[in-house]
Amino acid sequence: MSSERFDVVIVGGAAIGSATAYFLTHDLGFDGSVAVIERDPTYAHAATTLSAASIRQQFSTPENIRMSAFGIAFFRDLKARFGAEADIGFRERGYLLLASETGEETLLANHEVQKAEGADIVLMDREALANNFRWLKTSDLRLGAFGRSGEGWFDAHSLLTLLRGAARKSATYIHGEVTGIMRDGARISGVTLADGREIGCGTLVNAAGPQAGDVAALAGVKLPVEPRKRCVFVVACRAGLPGMPLMVDPTGVWVRPEGEVYICGVSPPEDACAADFEVDYALFEEVVWPMLAHRVPAMEELKLQRAWAGHYDYNTLDQNAVIGAHPEIPNFIFANGFSGHGLQQSPAAGRAVAELITHGKFVSLDLALFGYERVTAGRPVKELNVI
Ligand SMILES: Cc1cc2nc3c(=O)[nH]c(=O)nc-3n(C[C@H](O)[C@H](O)[C@H](O)COP(=O)(O)OP(=O)(O)OC[C@H]3O[C@@H](n4cnc5c(N)ncnc54)[C@H](O)[C@@H]3O)c2cc1C
Repeated sequence: MSSERFDVVIVGGAAIGSATAYFLTHDLGFDGSVAVIERDPTYAHAATTLSAASIRQQFSTPENIRMSAFGIAFFRDLKARFGAEADIGFRERGYLLLASETGEETLLANHEVQKAEGADIVLMDREALANNFRWLKTSDLRLGAFGRSGEGWFDAHSLLTLLRGAARKSATYIHGEVTGIMRDGARISGVTLADGREIGCGTLVNAAGPQAGDVAALAGVKLPVEPRKRCVFVVACRAGLPGMPLMVDPTGVWVRPEGEVYICGVSPPEDACAADFEVDYALFEEVVWPMLAHRVPAMEELKLQRAWAGHYDYNTLDQNAVIGAHPEIPNFIFANGFSGHGLQQSPAAGRAVAELITHGKFVSLDLALFGYERVTAGRPVKELNVI
């Protein structure tokens, strides 16, 4: 017998879990009880707080563009929602995706999709790139796509603090680790915590980020989401790089300003499920720095100041989110597997899950494409722009 019971129990209280609780208790006006169970209220190892905290519209899947567009609208509306003091340090300075001959066609095709969605992305040929970004080496480039508005970066901690702070006014945050899920046939009846507590639920939401696969497994469900290590390097560069957006080289190396310094990284060539948070300095020395020095010659002289490692909530099927209920367990809802673009999508994902719980369907944005059904069918929704 459960000692406590809530209409909705959310496992994981970082960006996705807190956004879900926020939208349930605010926009959706859900009148049931909501609990968020979080094993680490410091969020020291959450993807949310270790993120590069950037937002873009340069995706190949229309639904991803729409989700991020809602993220932008949410950021612009922050003060109306959270009060005059609300500030996530949003810098709307764009992404610049670069293509050599090999990537040109994909960039062009993606741009068509983005234009059709109303995203403010312009294409630049080599000459335009050289004129607009004088610090950029362009001789081996064919094309660039630049977000004039609707893209940039922000502070992840501040976003989480706002969402969580507002959600906590109505939802109960419980410090504990979910180690068991009680299933009664086609329904989830509750969860058990590491300290032995049992908490009953009407609906269970999986918002466990990189651990979402483990949480799903507690209910006997297979979810192809696992932690994959991504390192972020903080570098200082003496030369000025005016107007630098978040730049993604054709090799996948990315860099962006962060106040007076820069952060950068790349997906590791050997990518596997990871449990540790050790920084891969060889990746910086052997891949990131040489590529930066090639693309931005002024960065040949840079100083590595510090670095951190975090885990992507990596969907091994198709690097896209899984959003929606399990088809055979309708009160078990996923919001997982964002694979590196989940922070910017947290407002849209939180609203979508809140709509599913309150109305039994998507209302604002149809995200059926991201449903769990494709996992069982083995039918990937391939996103071409995974950074
Ligand atoms: C290095 C890096 C760079 C990134 N850059 C970007 C970016 O630029 N833009 C972008 O949009 N996204 C980016 N991401 C991805 C983004 O951070 C994630 O997709 C997003 O934060 C996922 O949020 P979440 O709340 O689902 O997961 P998390 O933030 O990981 O939160 C999950 C929470 O669940 C808790 N939890 C897990 N298991 C249990 C359990 N059994 N019981 C109780 N609690 C549990 C954890 O403690 C954690 O707090 C990046 C990620 C990394 C690692």
